Amino acid sequence: MQVAAPDGKTIYLWPATSRDLQDAAAQLGHYGYMAEAFDSIAALLAAQARAPSVALIEFGAVGQLSGADRSALSALAARHPMLCVAGEGTIAARLAAVRMGCQAYLSHPLDTAVLLDTLDRLTAPPQAEASRVLIVEDSPALAAFYAAHLNEAGFITQVVTDPLKTLETLDEQPPELILLDMNMPGASGQEIAAVIRQQSAYLSIPIVFLSAESDMARQREAMSLGGDEFLQKPIEPEHLIAAIRARVIRYRALRALMVRDSLTGLLNHTNFKERLRSETARAQRQGKPLAVALLDIDFFKKVNDTYGHPAGDQVIKSLSRLLKQRLRGGDVIGRYGGEEFAVALPDTPIDGAIQVLDSIRASFAAIVQHVGARTFQVTLSAGVALSAAGSNGESLIQAADAALYAAKHGGRNRVCEA
Ligand code: GH3
Ligand code: MG
Ligand code: MG
Ligand code: MG
Repeated sequence: MQVAAPDGKTIYLWPATSRDLQDAAAQLGHYGYMAEAFDSIAALLAAQARAPSVALIEFGAVGQLSGADRSALSALAARHPMLCVAGEGTIAARLAAVRMGCQAYLSHPLDTAVLLDTLDRLTAPPQAEASRVLIVEDSPALAAFYAAHLNEAGFITQVVTDPLKTLETLDEQPPELILLDMNMPGASGQEIAAVIRQQSAYLSIPIVFLSAESDMARQREAMSLGGDEFLQKPIEPEHLIAAIRARVIRYRALRALMVRDSLTGLLNHTNFKERLRSETARAQRQGKPLAVALLDIDFFKKVNDTYGHPAGDQVIKSLSRLLKQRLRGGDVIGRYGGEEFAVALPDTPIDGAIQVLDSIRASFAAIVQHVGARTFQVTLSAGVALSAAGSNGESLIQAADAALYAAKHGGRNRVCEA
């Protein structure tokens, strides 16, 4: 089964006669890559204009090429990432590959997990997602001024001019930093900071006070209630941006450690539930459907028992990779338990959710897992629930779990609806 790349990631393979590359091509499709094999260097070079994401070559075949073909291959490597698979990992062989322009050197027999990790790395979007900053400032003119400078520096900003609206804005889309004015009608910046810090979900978001307050004692007092930095108005935009950027970078690094599961890089249990809560609130407010699913690997204990725990880990990683590649950017994916995953699909009706989950189920079942020379295949079961009036994160998970139970008892390797 060949699945088209959703984001157009095409991998060129040469030569088409390589057994290892043929096996790889069969697997890549399941992970959202489109593999295309070429018989000759001439055909490979001719297809360059279509801009492959990566070229994967059998290095052993390079020896038979003419000098002109080798130069052409080097030129290709200068324009598109090139990887090679090679038999011997001697320094001489590796050096030859580096001189050809190869960015990675993979060994025979080609390990699919290693290949996918390398491809994911080489084809990852170069820039990280822009940071979101929430500006709480009662003066619309000042707020617009800060927002304009931050936007120009690449931040995504959201402005709240009524401090009492801060919490609902936070719930809808948690920012990575809050720029908080001190003197505002309705509630002071210090009070708002204290309220924010009382919610465990927002304990670690950096809060930067921006105020005309020049009394050091009052500045310190504001900091004691949960601020991370105090900037004094008027402030040079460059200074403001530098202070915010440094805070956001640190926050991202810390958050990645706290929020992500170390094996899969997905949200952990607690943070999935946190995100689910805000997605449910948003769906209710916007009157849009939200689908929630639980996926559980079938007979996973047997995988561990038969092939060992590291092989089990590799299976978990392969499913997490599949989920990341198949779901959309706005979808929320978490590792809910050991071999159990949870996903939340905003603005998705039940039919659409079942369709995408069933396609993931089919792809997962088709993946050939490798442990040394042994291969095996694994399936998963899933339960899906759709939000309705009055539902919350907890009730959606419960409904999805009941549907998952039905899928298990209905024979596994299937998707059931709540
Ligand atoms: P079912 O089809 O009913 O889901 O059967 P199952 O064997 O998958 O279910 P069960 O819940 O009995 O077993 C899950 C196993 O997953 C038990 C546990 O040892 C294993 N497991 C949990 N977390 C990890 C992990 O991180 N790595 C590995 N390798 N195994 C794990
Ligand atoms: Mg003010
Ligand atoms: Mg389980
Ligand atoms: Mg299981």
